[in-house]
Amino acid sequence: MSLIVQKFGGTSVANTERLMNVADIVTSTYKAGNQVVVVVSAQGDTTDDFIEKAAELNDRPSKREMDVLLSAGEQISMALLAMAIQKLGYPVISLTGWQAGIETDINYSEARIRKVTGERIRSELDRNRIVIVAGFQGINKQDDITTLGRGGSDTTAVAIAASLGADLCQIYTDVDGVYTADPRIVKDARKLDEITYDEMLELATLGAQVLHNRSVEMAKKYNVDLEVVSSFSRNPGTKVKEGSDMEKMNVSGVARDNNCARVAIINLPDEPGVAFKVFSLLAKHKVNIDIILQSVGQKNKKSITFTIQQDKAEEVGKILAANKEQLGFEDVSINTGVAKVSIVGAGMASNPGVAAKMFEALAGAGINIRMISTSEIKISVLINEEDSEKAVKAIHEKFFNV
Ligand code: ASP
Ligand code: MG
Repeated sequence: MSLIVQKFGGTSVANTERLMNVADIVTSTYKAGNQVVVVVSAQGDTTDDFIEKAAELNDRPSKREMDVLLSAGEQISMALLAMAIQKLGYPVISLTGWQAGIETDINYSEARIRKVTGERIRSELDRNRIVIVAGFQGINKQDDITTLGRGGSDTTAVAIAASLGADLCQIYTDVDGVYTADPRIVKDARKLDEITYDEMLELATLGAQVLHNRSVEMAKKYNVDLEVVSSFSRNPGTKVKEGSDMEKMNVSGVARDNNCARVAIINLPDEPGVAFKVFSLLAKHKVNIDIILQSVGQKNKKSITFTIQQDKAEEVGKILAANKEQLGFEDVSINTGVAKVSIVGAGMASNPGVAAKMFEALAGAGINIRMISTSEIKISVLINEEDSEKAVKAIHEKFFNV
């Protein structure tokens, strides 16, 4: 007998028919002799609809009340799924984050899970019940409901799997698994059977939009075997785990991130401590910095260019303007019409020529590179946003269609 955690995303539970399909998957797993804990997201666009409703009443509602509102979406799903499973004649119970013992820190709207006590889940499993837990929510030390940030149900599932020592955590979604590129852009993108945690982390951060980042970080930390699988097709999915045969793999995927902006701070004083001043200021405002480039100093001046998330661009512009004097620069230019395209692969570090091949693909497509950054397992380039689809296609073609 295995303990399996199955998480179903919003599209997988979107309506009655989809819920019956999920009930079928869950009960088949249970019937095969496994203990099953199910984590559900809110149905379809429920969370977005709630956010809109709130905005009609108040453009700055408190985060506490937003969490009370948003957590209701998962509660609807869990009760409906429990009813569907009851109808099939199986023992089942649904639990809120609080009932399941999901304890978080105090931060409303982006809470982090501190621990999953899980006693209730265990005792329900001991009574041979299928246990359904609301994703995305927990309880803080003030006994208030918190939510984990958009897409947080994946993280709920992995946290439960880690704390119960589950044998497998399956993330059911509307795609078949993790692909070598976004199948909506690249028609012949291939599904990966296996991927390492590190690769998945890079792809998640780079906008592959399959798994919540924090869920992958947590899976890696607690060595939870993850599987991304479709609730629609029921084909085999992609396994995410510690590398086994990874030496063979070179580049595992091409990712694109349009949510980025380039900030150039022009003519800063060329002296020690300047980069520290700039980036500590931005860190204080919780701005995530990605690629950084500093120009060669000339006439005691230098420029620093870096990328940030596009939705932070306005705020960063204001922060820098307010500190112009103190930082001593001449000008700031912010460009939101850029995108980051990256190749990711665990075997890349030991394979020379990968970068050249990527640049060759871009050159062939006539795409100009604005910035470059590299790490052990990825190479990213910043290009004009309008070129990004073309870039993904050209790079994918070069690496995967040989
Ligand atoms: N319902 C939440 C959201 O839309 C959490 C989730 O689906 O994972 O962000
Ligand atoms: Mg999701």
